[in-house]
Amino acid sequence: MRNQVLGILGGGQLGRMSALAAARLGVKVHIFTAEENSPAAQVAAHTIVADYGDEVALKEFAAGVDVISYEFENIPAQTVQFLKTLKPVYPDDRLLAASQDRIAEKTYLNSIGIDTARFMAVSDAADIEKALSEWGAGEIILKTTRFGYDGKGQLRVSKNDDFTNVLAHFAGAPLIAEEIVPFERELSVIIARDKEGQMEHYGPVHNEHRNHILHRSTYPCGSTDQVIEKALQMTRTLAEKVDLIGVLALELFVTEDGSVLANEIAPRTHNSGHWSIDACVTSQFENHVRAVCGFALGSGEAHSGAVMTNLIGTDILQIADLAAQKNTAIHDYGKDDIREGRKMGHYTVISPLKNHK
Ligand code: AMP
Repeated sequence: MRNQVLGILGGGQLGRMSALAAARLGVKVHIFTAEENSPAAQVAAHTIVADYGDEVALKEFAAGVDVISYEFENIPAQTVQFLKTLKPVYPDDRLLAASQDRIAEKTYLNSIGIDTARFMAVSDAADIEKALSEWGAGEIILKTTRFGYDGKGQLRVSKNDDFTNVLAHFAGAPLIAEEIVPFERELSVIIARDKEGQMEHYGPVHNEHRNHILHRSTYPCGSTDQVIEKALQMTRTLAEKVDLIGVLALELFVTEDGSVLANEIAPRTHNSGHWSIDACVTSQFENHVRAVCGFALGSGEAHSGAVMTNLIGTDILQIADLAAQKNTAIHDYGKDDIREGRKMGHYTVISPLKNHK
């Protein structure tokens, strides 16, 4: 149990925060990433910089670790399949496959009784026409089925648009049409599950976006008990059905009438769970490490209310001022290049929980 080495595919801030949590448990982290000087590499015991298809480098990586996980979902399936022959990889590829393709994802969610917005595969203008007329909608959302994040690869399409132009925008990528959900708010739940099937959850939290990027997550979320229970139940069902070992997040829409629809699965720690570092007994990152390394989970209970705000692009320049604010925890991901739309860090303001759920 002691002196384990955890390999993480991906070098971003999620890997960085997992490595920091791992260090407290005496677990060393090795990072595999295609990026030089990545946020995770700065705090890891060892890093291999190579392409995800480089089997020699993957072999070397696997040889140096006891168990492997990942911090982003767009890892080639072949990479995981190859690594699996060498060391255990958690969460397993069922969850990864379901979360890499929006059609597979929504089909899977529906098959296990989790509702989503209506959707349809789209390959030509006639399909767009069909979605609009079948749903009686003036507008739908078109998304690339793969590799979309932070609103990249999606477009609202109205019945008056020129569908040929719209399709040209996506340059032949496989597409999904989704009914637009008139949501009252967006929530997410994060769940950790260990090898014994024990679970700890975080949230639901209320998520607010700016320019399609998560801006703020608030706990408690302020929804009704019924909505909270539905959100938790949906996430628990998913975690059990995929036999999760590790952490996943489920992004949800809540409508005015209290319906809860799933939007997206993240098979990993999630931005909307960063508040757990400062407001919970055991953070999502520590429980991720605990689950994949075979420790029992720690309590995910919140000891404080929290508002987590992302620092995007030049927002990071506020960090010295934020450091001087009361009850404010600051997190800088150590990225050298400040770029528009890039997640550079976050801060969490904690407050007493009192009578909140
Ligand atoms: P996604 O890339 O699917 O996570 O979408 C990014 C954001 O776009 C979501 O957090 C929502 O704010 C919005 N969005 C995505 N899909 C829908 C939908 N079917 N109806 C309404 N809003 C949506």
